[in-house]
Order: sequence, then C-alpha cells, then structure tokens
Amino acid sequence: MFIEPRVGNRHNAPRRGWIEVVCGSMFSGKTEELIRRLTRARIARQRVEIFKPALDTRYHAEDVVSHNAARIRSSPVAIASEILLLAAGSDVVGIDEAQFFDDSLVDVCAQLANNGTRVIVAGLDMDYLGRPFGPMPALLATAEYVTKVHAVCVCCGEIASYSYRIVASASQVLLGETDSYEARCRPCFLEGLQAKAPAAEPATVVPAQAAH
Ligand SMILES: [Zn+2]
Repeated sequence: MFIEPRVGNRHNAPRRGWIEVVCGSMFSGKTEELIRRLTRARIARQRVEIFKPALDTRYHAEDVVSHNAARIRSSPVAIASEILLLAAGSDVVGIDEAQFFDDSLVDVCAQLANNGTRVIVAGLDMDYLGRPFGPMPALLATAEYVTKVHAVCVCCGEIASYSYRIVASASQVLLGETDSYEARCRPCFLEGLQAKAPAAEPATVVPAQAAH
C-alpha cells in the first residue's frame, strides 16, 4: 500500500510537489488506486483536479471510471498542455490513461511538480505487444514514487503484467475491455503471441525503437 510522504506542516512553508506513477497491465487496478489516492486528498480538503485524454471515452465522457465502477469527475483534454491551464490552483492533479498522451505530458508533469503540485499519473506501462507505452517510460524515470500493480493471469492464475489482445488489430490504441483484452503472465503472453504468428520468427517482444 502506498503511503503518502509526510510533507512539512509549517504553515508558511512553500508547497512541495512531486510525481507518483501507478502503472500496470489492464485489469490491474491502476484506476482504483488513482481514485483511492485522489479521494483521500479530497477528504482532506485539498483542491483536486483530474484529467484524462479526450480519446478515452469507453464509459463516460467526463468521469474517470475504473472497472469496478468507482468514479470521479474528470476533464477530458485533447493535448497535455491543456492540463497546465486547467490545473492552476490545484494541490493535487490526477491523470488517468496517461499512455495515450504524447511525450509532452512528461514536461507538463514536471512543471506541475516543480510548482508545488502533487501529480498522480496512472497508465498502462506496456502496449498489447509488451512495448513501453507512450510517455510512460519517461514518466516512470522522472517520478519520485512508482507503484506497479498486477492483474491475475486468466490462463494460469499467476501474477499478470501483460495486456494480451484477443481480437485481431494492429493498432496500438484499441479501446476495449474484457471483450478485447486479457491479463496474462509472461509465459502465457508469449504463448499467445506465438500462436498468433506461427510462421514468423520465434515471438519476442519488439523493442520500441524497432516498432516505429
Ligand atoms: Zn499465465
């Protein structure tokens, strides 16, 4: 369980900002963990703003909704820099589905943290081929606190950290739920990739650079 760092309680001390990242595969509870942290901050009467990429409209246009239907009001934004404008005056900024933003999100989070804001970012660390996803690797590198949460492999019940796509699509962005993805452990994920490409080279995880 993540415990928030204790921040000095001197009333006139300048606010201190930092970045937390919650990452993992689909069905790992990332969004629940984000909501848990934001809710606790809100109960303490901190000013909390939540953002998500405008393209993620799986459930509700303005809510961050986890798979267990916990929800919290959020603002959809088209580009990361909008967050800087909309988050002015916030104590805590939450960002969900961060993998869908472009790399400018890394600078946006750094600016917020530098200016004294607590930034909590949740997102998929890997895409459906096991490649580092969007701005997540750089966010993980620059965050003060990183929490990797895990799902349960639907094939064998072991700890799962991969999002295995069960429908045929080569797009990196394919929104969907249990109809499109399964959480899988490493061996079951590799087995699935090999089954999809029997004639190809032994399936390996493609490095991100080679994919572009
Ligand atoms: Zn497995």
